[in-house]
Amino acid sequence: MLIDTHCHLDMKAFDGDREEVIKRAGDAGIKYIINVGSDREGNIRGLRMFREHPSIYSAAGIHPHNAKKLDYSLYRELKEWVREPKVIAVGEIGLDYHYLHSPKGVQVEAFRRQMALAKDAGLPVIVHSREAKNDTLRVLREEISDTTGVLHCFSGDIDMAKKAMELGFYISLAGTVTFRNAQEMREIAKFVPDEFLLIETDAPYLSPEPVRGRRNEPAFLKHTAEVIAGIRGITVADLARITMLNAMKLFKIEEIAEEGEIVYRIRDSLYLNITNKCTNRCGFCIKFRTNYVKGHNLRLEKDPAALQIIKAIGDPRDYGEIVFCGIGEPFLRLDVVKKVSRWIKQQGGKVRINTNGQGNLIHGRNILPELQGLVDSISVSLDAEDEEKYEKICRPSFKGAYRGVIEFIKEAKKFIPEVRITVVKIPEVDIDRCRAIAAELGVPLREREFNEVG
Ligand code: SF4
Repeated sequence: MLIDTHCHLDMKAFDGDREEVIKRAGDAGIKYIINVGSDREGNIRGLRMFREHPSIYSAAGIHPHNAKKLDYSLYRELKEWVREPKVIAVGEIGLDYHYLHSPKGVQVEAFRRQMALAKDAGLPVIVHSREAKNDTLRVLREEISDTTGVLHCFSGDIDMAKKAMELGFYISLAGTVTFRNAQEMREIAKFVPDEFLLIETDAPYLSPEPVRGRRNEPAFLKHTAEVIAGIRGITVADLARITMLNAMKLFKIEEIAEEGEIVYRIRDSLYLNITNKCTNRCGFCIKFRTNYVKGHNLRLEKDPAALQIIKAIGDPRDYGEIVFCGIGEPFLRLDVVKKVSRWIKQQGGKVRINTNGQGNLIHGRNILPELQGLVDSISVSLDAEDEEKYEKICRPSFKGAYRGVIEFIKEAKKFIPEVRITVVKIPEVDIDRCRAIAAELGVPLREREFNEVG
C-alpha cells in the first residue's frame, strides 16, 4: 500500500471527476492521500474533502506564489485550520524564485510566519523550493524547531538533499524522476537513504511516464514507485513499506508497530532476525541510528526461540533464499542457527548466513564443520584492511578479532559451498587493500554502500 504524500485534489482540474479519482486511487493501492493546500479556497475545499473521505488527510498552508495574499485575516484562518484533527502538516509553504508571482522578500516573510505557525501547532512542514536553494536552507535553519518536514517534489541537487537531511528533513520524489532526461533526479533517487525517502504525485501536475502529458492523479503514483524501486534495486512492495513508515513517522497518521519482526522480507529473500546482540560495535552499524531496515522494525524485546522462527518462516520454498541477518550476530545463537537451518534444508530451502566472522572466537572452537550441509552460503563482514583499522571501526569485544575473522574465512571455504566477504565503503577503509586480501583468500568481495542495508 502506498501513500501519496502530496497532491492537490482540491484544484479545479478535478472538479469533473473528483470522486472517481479518489476511487481509482484506492483501487490502485493508495491507502492514504495528503491533500496539500496552496490558497485560501483550496484549503477550505481540502478540509471538506477529508471530512468526507477516511483515506484523505490535509496540509494547510499558503504557497509561495500566493505569499502576497497572506494577510492578517488569512493567517488567523490558517491558525484555525491547523487545529483540525486531520490537518497533519503546514504546507505548501516555501520559496519559488522561478515565477516570482510574489516578490522574494514577501515569500521569505510568509515562509517564516508559516514555519512559526507549524512550530506552535506542533506540526511538520511541507516545503516547496524552486530555484531558491540557499534561501530555503537558510530559513529552515533559522526557523527549525522540534518538528521538521519534507522538501516536496525535490528538484535540488545532492548537496541540497544532504543539507536538508542534516536538518532532519525528508526528501519527496515525484514523477519527474521518470522523465527520460532526468539523470540528476535518478541519482538523487539512488542517493537518499531509506529513512529520508517519501514519494508523491503533486497531482494534477507532473504526470510520470508513461502517462506524461495527461492530468496527473494519485493512482499514477505506482509509475513513479516502479521507477524509484528499480533504481534502488528493491521491489515496489519494499518501497511502499519504506515510504509508508516514513510518512507515518512524519505525519503521525497511524500508530507505528512497536514490536520487532523475527522474519522480514526484502525483494525475494526472507531475512531472520534472531538476536540484536553482537560482539562488535561498528561505527556504521544501522542499529545505532534506527530500529528499521527497509521499513521493517528489527528491535527485538527478546531473542526468539527456534520453533517461533520456524513457524514465522512458513514455506522456505516461497523465497529465493533464507538469510540469517538482523542487527546482531547470528552465531551468538549457534544452536538456533543449526536447528532452523536444518529444518529449512529439509523443506527444500536455501540458507545464507551474514556474519561478522567471529563464530569461532565466540564458541572457542571451529564451528564450521558443524554447519556443513546446513548452510549454502556465508557472507563475512571484513570491513577493514588490517587489525588496527578493524579495531577502530568495528570495536570488537575480542582481542585479535581481525585475525580470527581471517581464519574463519579460510575455514569456511572448506565446509560451505559459497563464501564471500563484504566491506562497507567508508572513507577510512582502503578498499584496494581489501580487494587484495579477498583475492589472496580466493573469495569474492562485495562492496556495500554506507547507507545500503538489506
Ligand atoms: S557486526 Fe554487524 S550487527 Fe554487529 S555491530 Fe557490526 S554492523 Fe552491527
